[in-house]
Amino acid sequence: MSVVTYIGLGSNLGDSRKTLTEAVAKLAALGRVKTSKLYQSPPMGPQDQPHYLNAVARLETDLAALDLLDELQKIEQEAGRVRLRHWGERTLDLDILLYGQEQIEHQRLTVPHIGLLERDFVIMPLLDLDKNIQIQAQCLKDLALAQDSTLLVVADEFWSAVD
Ligand code: ATP
Ligand code: CA
Ligand code: CA
Repeated sequence: MSVVTYIGLGSNLGDSRKTLTEAVAKLAALGRVKTSKLYQSPPMGPQDQPHYLNAVARLETDLAALDLLDELQKIEQEAGRVRLRHWGERTLDLDILLYGQEQIEHQRLTVPHIGLLERDFVIMPLLDLDKNIQIQAQCLKDLALAQDSTLLVVADEFWSAVD
């Protein structure tokens, strides 16, 4: 039985667009994938780091949630992920934003992802993929953060297509 999941992608070190494109290709090995537009966002936490590129992928997969997390962490490692400080710069960050309708509280995994409702770089790409998406009965498009967002779109939803 496949589950609809949403994966947040972020990068602000190295060739971020290439890293994200490669990550989407790897996600495609885990199930059917569709991507949001590509966004540029200011860093959270330490401000003396480059802007991020962010996107969300909708992934339909048969993987159990923790197995999916293992696969995402493998892809992060393959991208040469290093992280120097909390919320600091990194080559690739892959977060499980939503896993079907499930609420998961596990030592390694909290779903829906913590902070989802406070981060426009997650909310705007989620809305690209499903404009009526809800989280715990909250329509994301009704959030003030969604209506006031000034997030910069840097490419349409075909950014990750291989030429
Ligand atoms: P944030 O979680 O605030 O976005 P971060 O992405 O920088 O911060 P990481 O260092 O990438 O945090 O991850 C720390 C740990 O978070 C991971 O090792 C993982 O076990 C755990 N984790 C908990 N919930 C999730 C989730 N929904 N998706 C991915 N990792 C998660
Ligand atoms: Ca993150
Ligand atoms: Ca993460």
